[in-house]
Amino acid sequence: MNAQDIMKIFEDTAYVRMGGSAEELRAAEYIRDRAAAFGEAKIVPFEVPMSNLEEAVFQADGVSIACKGYLCAGSGEVEAPFYYLRSKDPWSLSQCRGKIVMVDGYLGYWIYQDLLENGAVGFVTYDGNANYVDEDIDQRELRSYVHKGSRIPGVNINAKSAIELIRKGVTTAKIVLKQEEYTGNSHNVILDLPGEIPQYIALTAHYDSTSLSQGAYDNMSGSVGLLGIAEHFAKNPHRYGLRFIWCGSEERGLLGSKAYCEDQEALKDCVLNINLDMIGCIMGKFIYCATAEEKLCHYISYMASELGFGIDGRQDVYSSDSTPFADKGVPAVSFARIAPNNTATIHNSYDTLALMKGEQMAQDIDFLVAFTNRMANAVRCPVAREMPDNMKDKLDQYLCRKRAPK
Ligand SMILES: [Zn+2]
Repeated sequence: MNAQDIMKIFEDTAYVRMGGSAEELRAAEYIRDRAAAFGEAKIVPFEVPMSNLEEAVFQADGVSIACKGYLCAGSGEVEAPFYYLRSKDPWSLSQCRGKIVMVDGYLGYWIYQDLLENGAVGFVTYDGNANYVDEDIDQRELRSYVHKGSRIPGVNINAKSAIELIRKGVTTAKIVLKQEEYTGNSHNVILDLPGEIPQYIALTAHYDSTSLSQGAYDNMSGSVGLLGIAEHFAKNPHRYGLRFIWCGSEERGLLGSKAYCEDQEALKDCVLNINLDMIGCIMGKFIYCATAEEKLCHYISYMASELGFGIDGRQDVYSSDSTPFADKGVPAVSFARIAPNNTATIHNSYDTLALMKGEQMAQDIDFLVAFTNRMANAVRCPVAREMPDNMKDKLDQYLCRKRAPK
């Protein structure tokens, strides 16, 4: 693929494609049709929780504030004192009881558990940026692994509204949520390029986006990267099989890769996962993040140096589709080109093809082809197929089985 072909794909897929939506399926079909040029490609469905939001109201001291209700957070109405949880120390948390609580940042697993334990009756999050002209509000969901059956209603608002609530010193709040919840489908797209031996390398990239985003950078870029690698190996020999998996619903909690990794039989022959999440942007540096033995880090940096390709990286857990593989003991490495966040941001309406550069995409793909080629034509894939203890510990934290030390 040349730079022009690459940009054409960004143009063709310049629409929002949330996990489980009809648009996500449309993108899956597009990728399948492209991948079919290189081999047999199929769409594999998996179940995801879905919701039709019928009503979402947020009032502060009787005044309605623009909001989006949390999907999958149930239906109901709650009216209570309003509290802004500025810090998460025990005293501040103890003030949550019986209140609708606004928190900074993302509603992660542990903060949600803290809210429940401390008796909060509703929650408010905010996103966007007070300095941007827009007043966009992202559509969030209460993820099933966060609530585990204990749900309180919540809304997301814009950062500008959040500031106004605190500036005015509002004391009461009301949340009304009405939604119809059901089980729907999201989809992985799978292309197999069989090798000379039954073992294979899984190459992954998610193709879904968040609610406001066309997700060119995050992560049609990685999806195009997989197409570029597949194009190369459709014409070139490889000893290990290559399985390309375009994952659905990554933005909803790595649901596509988790669904794939539930199949123990399919993972048995998988020796390595190579994951692409955000490459080829105009600005920024190329990185790797290896959830594997540390030797792989040295190997990648030596190889990049040998090829004259700038790279930075570390051994760590990456917040992407590589993690479910690593959690099942498959060594995994994610690659990304990380733009400084004053030049490109994600999960908002600014993530469009304007952030992308076809020539940079092509260079990044060349490096990824070179790395894949070493691994795919190895006499024996040299990366140990076991997780070092420090990575197991990080996986426990990332997957909310263990709280990170404060
Ligand atoms: Zn992503």
